[in-house]
Amino acid sequence: MPIIESSATRRLWFAIAFLLTLSGKCASQTVPAGYQVATWRGFRSAAISYTFDDNCPNQLAIAVPMFDRFGFKVTLFTVTSPKWVWPANWSGLQKAALGGDEIASHTIDHPKFDTLSDSALQAELSRSRDTINAHIKGKRCITIAYPYCFPGNEAMDAEYYIAARGCSGQIVSKTPSDFMNISSFVCGDQGLNTVTAIDAEADSAAARNGWCVYLMHGINGTEPGAYSPISQDTILATLEYLSAHPDEFWVAPFGTVARYIKERNSASVSEVSAHGDSITFRMTDNLDGSYYDVPLTVRRELPEGWDSAIVYQNDGPLSSDIVKIDRVRYVTFDALPDTGNVTIVRKTGNGFDR
Ligand SMILES: [Zn+2]
Repeated sequence: MPIIESSATRRLWFAIAFLLTLSGKCASQTVPAGYQVATWRGFRSAAISYTFDDNCPNQLAIAVPMFDRFGFKVTLFTVTSPKWVWPANWSGLQKAALGGDEIASHTIDHPKFDTLSDSALQAELSRSRDTINAHIKGKRCITIAYPYCFPGNEAMDAEYYIAARGCSGQIVSKTPSDFMNISSFVCGDQGLNTVTAIDAEADSAAARNGWCVYLMHGINGTEPGAYSPISQDTILATLEYLSAHPDEFWVAPFGTVARYIKERNSASVSEVSAHGDSITFRMTDNLDGSYYDVPLTVRRELPEGWDSAIVYQNDGPLSSDIVKIDRVRYVTFDALPDTGNVTIVRKTGNGFDR
């Protein structure tokens, strides 16, 4: 029997496709032969995120400077009520945000979401975000961590945040099935509490090409009442391990990794021209650029006879590397989707053929 689609049905399908695109849930990567968009920044094997909850004071005093020494950035899930046991240190958080750390929501006053009415949940979701945005200049609050790991109403959570963290103790797949309940590992005396146990999860993520999210609270046991404290020496040793394997682990804040995944899965590459000593392509993701502004790592096979190349986006140079894989030479670089053509120009011994 032939299938006859009415124009109304067709319009409905177009509307659904459009909404999926808007929500960023549509995994529709289109990449032509010769190009690859990296699963993780720099074609690394795994993404690793360190997240800290509850505003325990040692997070800003001890952890952030320690991570900074490695060039690693973290997510600070912040409780916004001034009545909270550790009121947010807004000037410290602003400084961390300017340094590249993510300041995200851990609600207003840390309720269990499964016990809240819809209106109370809506208030926790919206007002904690708005309070953070009012205090932290130059950044936007885009993710949330659920108190006690109860997601409540995920559809409502998704109206305010692009991703949310739970804590079911699993490696997250390179394309999570549920962005509103990303798993994490509780660290400290209630969870992973040795360097070996923590490093093992990073290795497991690398083996599976996945994402490992750590959840930390108190540090050193000197903050009375802080949940599941962990020693700074243990954290430090895990950072030394990740830092010793820079080609394997991409350490980045929770919201940065979530955006990278959505952009990567929506990325569409199309070659505009390829002739002589110059190749031009365009990369789009059709996501809201005011949120989705994380560069994606791309590589392009170099034509026969090209030893090296230089890359431009809108005439500004992008930093790039030449890699050789199975006798094929590639140029690798980070480029932001939806921001103009990228041109790869042959580089000769005498200079650039541009
Ligand atoms: Zn908490």
